[in-house]
Amino acid sequence: MIIHKEGDKSKAICERCKEIVPVTFRYAPFMAQGLKVPEVMQGFCDKCGDSVSLPHQSTYRIREYRESHNRPVEFRVPPHFTDILLTIGNMHKVSQKPNLLCRLLSELYLSKISLPGGSRIQKQIVLALTEDIAGGKSKDRLSCVFPDNAYATLKTVSSAEHKTTSDIVRGIIVTAKHDILDKRNRSISKEFEELAAAKL
Ligand SMILES: [Zn+2]
Repeated sequence: MIIHKEGDKSKAICERCKEIVPVTFRYAPFMAQGLKVPEVMQGFCDKCGDSVSLPHQSTYRIREYRESHNRPVEFRVPPHFTDILLTIGNMHKVSQKPNLLCRLLSELYLSKISLPGGSRIQKQIVLALTEDIAGGKSKDRLSCVFPDNAYATLKTVSSAEHKTTSDIVRGIIVTAKHDILDKRNRSISKEFEELAAAKL
């Protein structure tokens, strides 16, 4: 795979000059879906200075930037949900930040839902909302920034189940409590630790 460095030369079609032009690669701001991403490698037309090509390496940088700038999703939960998150975090020595733990657990379960056979887990999460432990006054606030794919799954599931995204996340926390704290499900714990290691 070609990785360009600043100053590399190539050729590309320039729409403004309407011809094949020599281009020079350098880092500059790039507009991606309304978001200005700083320092993105692009090829610039040597004649008019327009940005005319975006090398493959830049797609990852743009995605990483976009995902890290996704708006946080706010959830209100009963305080014992925060205790569940902290207990799970402490058990795995992952983190003691409720927001981060909520995001990691949600990502884990949302990725399971999007796999074949994931509808079973989806039902389990929705059913968890009817349990006694799912109740209580929502006095704590959680704020999670999800990667694009996890957020898309969260939206899809909540509209399919006629629930709010907040409901689904609450269902995930109760399901995680059963899997990890009650059943001591080792494979879920291992997946959670691996995800945390990859993301932290
Ligand atoms: Zn040009």
